[in-house]
Amino acid sequence: MKVVVTGGAGFIGANLCRVLLGRPEVAEIVVVDDLSTGAAENLDGLAGVTLVVGSITDPVMLRKVFEGCSAVAHLAARPSVPLSIADPVASHHVNVTGTVQVLEAARAAGAYAVVASSSAVYGDQSGAPQHEGLPQLPLSPYGVTKVATEGYAMAYLRCFGVPTLALRFFNVFGPLQPAGHAYAAVIPAFLAAALEGRPLQVFGDGRQVRDFVYVDTVTEVLTQAILGRVTSPTPVNLASGSPTDLRELIAQIERVLDRHLEVEYLDARTGDARESQADQTRLRSLFPGVVPVDLHTGLRRTVRWWQREQTPAAAVTALG
Ligand code: NAD
Repeated sequence: MKVVVTGGAGFIGANLCRVLLGRPEVAEIVVVDDLSTGAAENLDGLAGVTLVVGSITDPVMLRKVFEGCSAVAHLAARPSVPLSIADPVASHHVNVTGTVQVLEAARAAGAYAVVASSSAVYGDQSGAPQHEGLPQLPLSPYGVTKVATEGYAMAYLRCFGVPTLALRFFNVFGPLQPAGHAYAAVIPAFLAAALEGRPLQVFGDGRQVRDFVYVDTVTEVLTQAILGRVTSPTPVNLASGSPTDLRELIAQIERVLDRHLEVEYLDARTGDARESQADQTRLRSLFPGVVPVDLHTGLRRTVRWWQREQTPAAAVTALG
């Protein structure tokens, strides 16, 4: 089968391409990516992957790319909360209009579509694991674009019979996730600081809870969804089910690195939820065979990748 991966030069997409390449059912993978936050080098060494550089807002290009395609993993997006606050129109254009264009292309090709939504759709509904029946109360324009993303995926299932699945990713981490920019996710930002000998910057008191999920768990679910054409009329959480606050996360990184880390506490950021933890019931019923990689193992593998790929020689020596 031919699979299109939008955003396939990004962190999750490039990890997904590696897993799909190993599956005998997958004959061809085409990545559509404008390289705005992703990088062509993330696909280095993947001989079976074709990269088409372009935007998901371009319907003519999409129609061509989707010819003969059986499935799309739609991951392309402007993925940042702060960037969506700085420029909501740009986030809407890519994340919402782009999603509709991808779904249109999937409809024309008769393809299955699994799309990336986000725990950001819940906003700040703390106190108990977030289940998919809760209202959508996003705190940022980014969260709103993900409400629309999953809403369109379900509307295409209902109105046009396009087999779709919307997965609400929680905090994904792992190899290929970049750190070197102002809006980096918390784990790569912490690892970069730790490996460069800088204090770890925490926005707020460090008691905010996140449901960190290692990227291999995410790519396993995406792969099973694509190969099994798994659909759902409602969105599905995708997390590890092991909520952790940032202070505990730092303690776990200290254990992996086997040293104490300095921490600097800064003001909390607009648009950041206090608690984010997933109810796993729907995920488990749709993907009973997937066992999430635990946080410690995921951190160990991520640190090993950082030390191999990104750390200057001097920092590796300092780590011992
Ligand atoms: P990423 O930035 O590494 O990947 C996004 C990719 O989309 C990049 O390669 C980027 O170049 C590409 N892209 C952006 N605009 C595009 C456009 N107009 N046309 C084509 N390509 C475009 O981010 P990621 O962490 O791999 O996220 C993948 C998806 O998962 C996104 O939809 C994101 O919103 C969602 N998500 C991620 C997380 C997480 O923790 N990483 C959590 C929730 C949801």
